[in-house]
Formats: sequence, C-alpha cells, structure tokens
Amino acid sequence: MGPTAGEMNQEQLLEYLIAHGVRWVQDQRATHRPSARPLLPEENAKLQLFVAAEVLSNIRVKTVPMIDNPPFYRDLARAGISMPLDFRVMSGITFQDTILISQAARVPDSQAVRLIFHESMHALQYRELGLERFIRQYVLGWAACGFQYAAIPLEVDAYELDARFASSSGTPFDAAAEVRRRLASRGAAA
Ligand SMILES: [Zn+2]
Repeated sequence: MGPTAGEMNQEQLLEYLIAHGVRWVQDQRATHRPSARPLLPEENAKLQLFVAAEVLSNIRVKTVPMIDNPPFYRDLARAGISMPLDFRVMSGITFQDTILISQAARVPDSQAVRLIFHESMHALQYRELGLERFIRQYVLGWAACGFQYAAIPLEVDAYELDARFASSSGTPFDAAAEVRRRLASRGAAA
C-alpha cells in the first residue's frame, strides 16, 4: 500500500498516475476491443502507405459518445488534486491497439482519417515501448513539459507525423521508423 492520494508529494503522484494509468489502459482495452471494428477498406488503403499491414490488421476502432475520464480521478478530486488531463474533450485515444473516437469532440469528416493516423502513431509507440514504458513516458513527459498536453513528447511526435501524413499527398514514408527515430533521439528507446 502506498500513500493515499491526499498524502502524496509530486513524485508519488506521478508514480500513482503511472500505476493507475497502466491498469486503466488495460481495462479500457479489454472493455472496448470486443465491440470495436477493424479499419475500413478506405482507411486501410490510405494508412497502408505509411504503416505495416501487420500493425494495421491489429488495430480496432470504436466510436463512443465521449471518452470518459479514469475512475481514479474521483480519488484525486477528493484529495483536492486537480484533474491531470481532461479526456472528455479529446477527439480520440488509443489503448495499445484499440482506438476510441469521440462523438462529443468529433473532428470534421475531412479530418477523420488523419485522426486515425494520429492514433495509429500512438499504437506504434506502444509497440516500441511496451505498455508500462509508454505510460511512464507519457506521464513523466507531461510533468517535465509544464503539465501541458500539447508539449508531451509522445504527443508532439504523433502530431508532427499526422501533419506530415496530411501534407504528403499520399507520398509514403515509414511511420514506424520515424517513431523509433524520434524515441531514440530523446534517449527514450533505451
Ligand atoms: Zn495523441
């Protein structure tokens, strides 16, 4: 048993978020994956120029009314700790190989494939790092970059790659190699 939420210093809070975050991702994946769909043929056709078929074939997508915040946020709130990231406003999220798309924060139809590409970059990051290290880098990156969502290195990489995808006009690049290179350049793949 660790300290309760109310007794934690910042380092303990980050460890709490990592431990609970890992379990949340596992739970959410198990909850949603059975009712999620494979990529549609038109999505697959666009993504396969950038991501290996073996990766794409494992991806599942599910549209949900809203992305819920983790249940452990209630314990944080009771302890007077402000919400780390508000997932309810997010358009998409990836639990390893299982992507949720939000209706409440839905992107325009013209951006729908780009969003799936973005989430697929997180799927590649999970594959490269494993679940535990992905969550650890996400949480510690968030803390190290001023608790700003947009500055989280794993997000910066995914956003830069989805921008490159959007401007590529279908000219292929190896997204997995790009993900690996970016992780290694920060010493993150060690
Ligand atoms: Zn993202």
